[in-house]
Amino acid sequence: MAEVLYNQNINEEVLKSKKVAVVGYGSQGHAHAQNLKESGFDVVVGLRPGKSWEKAEQDGVKVKRVADAVKEADVVMVLLPDEHQPSVYEEEIKPNLDAGNALVFAHGFNVHFNQVVPPEDVDVFLVAPKGPGHLVRRTFEEGAGVPALYGVYQDHTGQAEKLAQAYAKGIGAGRAGVLQTSFQEETETDLFGEQAVLCGGLTSLVKAGFETLTEAGYQPEVAYFECMHELKLIVDLMYEGGLEGMRYSISDTAQWGDFVSGPRVVNEDTKARMKDVLTDIQTGEFAKGWILENQVNRPQFNAINVKENQHQIEQVGKELRELMPFVKEQAKSKKEKEVV
Ligand code: NDP
Ligand code: MG
Ligand code: MG
Repeated sequence: MAEVLYNQNINEEVLKSKKVAVVGYGSQGHAHAQNLKESGFDVVVGLRPGKSWEKAEQDGVKVKRVADAVKEADVVMVLLPDEHQPSVYEEEIKPNLDAGNALVFAHGFNVHFNQVVPPEDVDVFLVAPKGPGHLVRRTFEEGAGVPALYGVYQDHTGQAEKLAQAYAKGIGAGRAGVLQTSFQEETETDLFGEQAVLCGGLTSLVKAGFETLTEAGYQPEVAYFECMHELKLIVDLMYEGGLEGMRYSISDTAQWGDFVSGPRVVNEDTKARMKDVLTDIQTGEFAKGWILENQVNRPQFNAINVKENQHQIEQVGKELRELMPFVKEQAKSKKEKEVV
């Protein structure tokens, strides 16, 4: 089994003498900045004036313009949306990096696909929490943490690995488990997971199930409960006890149906297409398409988004959730977006 590090295996002293700039204060940024600060590290947030700036000030975190924060920091964590990182890096980060500094990411995309090319005289590593930023913060406040991967791309000072581990401990990941990876592995598995299983695979499965039932004449409300609402209950059981734990809680009829019908829906053909998706990620084909889409202001992204939001399952779901106050309460407390 791969070595998993916990708080007791990590010495954070190496990061204690450094100043950390957290660039961006969104989903990940607000969590990293506050967790590091409460873990006793010296943190400054880098932003442009605006909404996030106000929020960071309200939270009592020191805020400066990106260029100024980078200038005074030794360790620079880039937590901007991936598609904005290359331009902010070129204009505000790169000119203010000193030799021996560390440039850090929470996802390997831009470095792995050469959209950000770091200078040779800095450390480059990633610390990627395997969970949404709002959970990185919430679990930390509860005394727990979200696991994280760390990986070194470039070790100029000879301290990159120790710094990465200390950073992971600082955001609370050492309470849950810290595992070594590479930029390539983190980038490719992260993209594959969200495309084939967590987001893309799942939304397509849910919609196909809903459409199959409604096209056969069943009530959309019943189809919604069956194919979308119940999913959370099943996923919670899998999260707690794996497939066996989930199967322990469902009826034997459901378990038999799982065994005989599941592989009819997701079969060797599906797996072959998953391999195609993985190949497009590995060859850079997916990255190229996404970078181009952003360069022309996302015409396809926006059109598909509108169409997806108009799907019948979304209309029915909206009405049904209105009638379930407990679901709305949960949503309200998590109003800010949580993404993979
Ligand atoms: P967000 O979309 O939440 O980040 C938005 C933040 O970036 C805001 O504070 C925004 O400030 C700021 N920002 C955007 N453009 C600029 C700019 N030009 N100059 C200064 N600040 C700017 O990003 P995420 O937290 O989702 O993602 C950050 C990184 O973490 C990515 O690399 C992502 O892949 C990775 N990651 C994200 C996860 C997640 O849970 N979201 C999970 C694991 C990794 P303003 O209010 O001014 O717009
Ligand atoms: Mg049932
Ligand atoms: Mg991702």
